[in-house]
Amino acid sequence: MARRTEGQHKMGGGRKPSERASKVCAACGLPFSWRKKWERDWDNVKYCSDRCRMAGKAAGATT
Ligand SMILES: [Zn+2]
Repeated sequence: MARRTEGQHKMGGGRKPSERASKVCAACGLPFSWRKKWERDWDNVKYCSDRCRMAGKAAGATT
């Protein structure tokens, strides 16, 4: 009865601390900064405003 206890824990620690960076709007090209309302979705935010988001979608995604 050979019991192996291999504690192999793969810790994929690639989590960044809540960064409050700024991005460049994909529609108007202007920089905008982190906002509270985006805190949960910051990675997906590409536009500075709803207006630009609409414009960006209307123009068709290039890239
Ligand atoms: Zn914009």
